[in-house]
Amino acid sequence: MSLRQQLRVPVGQDFDLSTVDPSSTPGLTGKKASSKWARKKLKAIGDGLSLFQEQLFATATVTGTRRRVVLLLQAMDCGGKDGTVKKVAGTMNPGGLSVVGFGKPTAEELRHDFLWRIRKAVPPPGQFAVFNRSQYEDVLIVRVHNLVPPEVWEGRYDQINAFEAELTAAGVTILKVMLHISRDEQKARLDKRLHDPTKYWKFDPADLQERGFWDDYQSAYNVALSRCSTEIAPWHVVPANHKWYRDWAVATLLHETLADLDLSYPPPSFDVHLERKRLAKA
Ligand code: AMP
Ligand code: MG
Repeated sequence: MSLRQQLRVPVGQDFDLSTVDPSSTPGLTGKKASSKWARKKLKAIGDGLSLFQEQLFATATVTGTRRRVVLLLQAMDCGGKDGTVKKVAGTMNPGGLSVVGFGKPTAEELRHDFLWRIRKAVPPPGQFAVFNRSQYEDVLIVRVHNLVPPEVWEGRYDQINAFEAELTAAGVTILKVMLHISRDEQKARLDKRLHDPTKYWKFDPADLQERGFWDDYQSAYNVALSRCSTEIAPWHVVPANHKWYRDWAVATLLHETLADLDLSYPPPSFDVHLERKRLAKA
């Protein structure tokens, strides 16, 4: 079974995050379930990812296909989004890659529809983007704190599904990943940030207040994962207490997704023999 199948949130069913153990390592058993094995493997997967990425870019350049890829990451605070970006996106060619973070909306963003800033970040054909947070914040933090009236956020699940269907039809492959940590793990990571001067910058006192809403967030995640895991853009839940597992799993999900696109180097758009002859005389 592929890792995508193992970690996929079933389409059209009620999903409950509490049924997933954040310390589990699906797909890695025995001696493979170790930091040493997973870290080594990540390197090899990374080489495969950059090859796929180059083929994606080359194909779009030569044939004009509209194929592009978005890796969308969501997690509770301290869930490891930044670390994943560094480890997984770090294996790729920065030239064909954008990493976009979606924080608290700016005044300008608030004047537009919630999908406005997301649309702007969709990569052009041949390119790759990582979304660090996404349109889902508008049914997560916004729902937990009722930042807009309930009838507004309630309508957003269908709007998000329609948006993702539209992107898919336009050649965008969307890989949605929720990094799932436990409440204890979040505490340990916050504690680390408070005891390491090189990590102070990562600590946000507001995170402690948000931690008080843990259960509300988990419920909001359950609704989003249940309602927005679709055939065209399914959700995946990656147990993320172990960073080595998280990085291996996200890289593997991405590799499986790209392998499905049947990428290859495009054939020449010119007569190779003729060009060789011309070059010899040039
Ligand atoms: P960080 O990822 O640590 O930079 O934090 C970004 C913060 O912005 C998080 O607390 C998010 O929940 C918050 N955020 C992201 N999108 C939205 C949104 N649409 N509305 C309100 N807050 C948001
Ligand atoms: Mg933060």
